[in-house]
Amino acid sequence: MSQIPAFAHNPPRAVPAPLAGSMQPGASETRSMNPADQERWLRVKQQLRAVVGEDNFKSWFAAMDLCAVDGDMVRLSVPTRFLKSWVQSHYADKLLTCWKADLPTVRRIDLAVRSAVLRNATVKEKPVEPAEAVREVKHGAAERNDQRAAQLPAQAAHEALGGSPLDPRLAFDTFVVGRSNTLAHAAAKQVALARRGEPVMFNPFYVHAGVGLGKTHLLQAIAWTGNGIADRKVLYLTAEKFMYGFVAALKAQTALAFKEALRGIDVLVIDDLQFLQGKNTQVEFCHTLNALIDAGRQVVIAADRPPSDLESLDDRVRSRLAGGLVVEMGSLEEELRLEILKHRVAAARAHHAGFDVPSPVLSFIARTVTHNGRDLDGALNRLLAHNKLTGLPVTMDMAERAVRDLVRPQEPKRVKIEDIQRVVARQYNVSRADLLSSRRTANVVRPRQIAMYLAKTLTLRSLPEIGRRFGGRDHTTVLHAVRKIENLVGNDAALADEIEVLKRLLQE
Ligand code: ADP
Ligand code: MG
Repeated sequence: MSQIPAFAHNPPRAVPAPLAGSMQPGASETRSMNPADQERWLRVKQQLRAVVGEDNFKSWFAAMDLCAVDGDMVRLSVPTRFLKSWVQSHYADKLLTCWKADLPTVRRIDLAVRSAVLRNATVKEKPVEPAEAVREVKHGAAERNDQRAAQLPAQAAHEALGGSPLDPRLAFDTFVVGRSNTLAHAAAKQVALARRGEPVMFNPFYVHAGVGLGKTHLLQAIAWTGNGIADRKVLYLTAEKFMYGFVAALKAQTALAFKEALRGIDVLVIDDLQFLQGKNTQVEFCHTLNALIDAGRQVVIAADRPPSDLESLDDRVRSRLAGGLVVEMGSLEEELRLEILKHRVAAARAHHAGFDVPSPVLSFIARTVTHNGRDLDGALNRLLAHNKLTGLPVTMDMAERAVRDLVRPQEPKRVKIEDIQRVVARQYNVSRADLLSSRRTANVVRPRQIAMYLAKTLTLRSLPEIGRRFGGRDHTTVLHAVRKIENLVGNDAALADEIEVLKRLLQE
């Protein structure tokens, strides 16, 4: 699958353009639509569901409609510009691959936003104007100071509720929006600015991303902004705080007081949910989650993995978590890294007037320090320290030396067997335990064989070692699985594509 999928209009663009797609009224006309095409669409959706997993499917494809199949072009529509840009930048290739698997003549996908009338009938989300995303980046220092002043009462209110400490720097005005976080940012903003009593749009709002990609920043921004609105109480807690503090406080009171306390909170924000542990805590958490959601209160959650991978939580909680809006924030792309750096330099200059970083140096850091927001902060802090301590201006030479150890070599990612099992399990909607078990039903056998095949091709592990890691199987079983999949791939283009997708997911 080396071909870059072609979208007929508005190809995915770099930051922060994803919202710029044009509306296309009339896109939902059903020219040349026939029942056979609709049936085909059902099959493609089944395939997509298998490739992207249930959670992603629900978030991004559930509201997608087929408008027409026009020669080599498939016309699809979604209700919001958000969905359109998100699908374009994250799922373009998978969508095309799934279509091609069913109808090989398909070459292009045209994705349109359904006309306003239809949209009102089908969707609850309110599109956020692109201008807003751009303005975010350009907030001036004066405005920032005003906002700081406005944050003080919010902080007091928050502390009174027993919330975890908030960092004043982690606000919306310092959050830079790019392709990888557009949707999460817009949803966060909407949650933060909702008024008391307004219907809640997506509940819970669940955001997941790797370390240093802005989860805490976004969640604290919701708390700051939300608490700045009269009458509204947003409580930000880390999962740890929830475990040790909130639960104990609630338990010490009567059931009535518990409900009373909950009634007072409009938005409950929980960070790093992957750390929530312990049976009792989980029971409390489940109770709180249900009570708040049923009462129409907003719940916002961040974790380092999607709900389906929170293995310590029980099924009911997981499905409740997956039932709202689940959004992943991807790694920070280079343009976004550069924007963040520019923001940071501007902020540093407010305190250190002589500090300046020439733009080639900023570009160099954005290009080479690729991992996460924390490393970017680290790089700038070092430049600042050098500059302050030596009094010398920041040069490329100095920057290269200062950030050397933050630059990680670009060697291909090493794939772990656990990752393979996790990704394969997710894609095929089985559990990792199923893959390791001795179950022999077809829906488990094939994913298990695929996972073993990937373990053989993507890692240096031996057949006996792979067998051991798959529930203590014999090496001949692994060999059989590898040969089986090799044969199938030669004859089954759809499977070959699925495996390509898996490989890419694992190596990205
Ligand atoms: P996480 O909670 O996902 O591990 P954080 O929110 O703590 O990550 O982010 C790590 C650092 O990177 C913080 O200093 C944060 O302000 C910064 N950062 C991450 N994403 C962004 C962004 N989009 N705009 C501005 N700063 C960001
Ligand atoms: Mg965090």
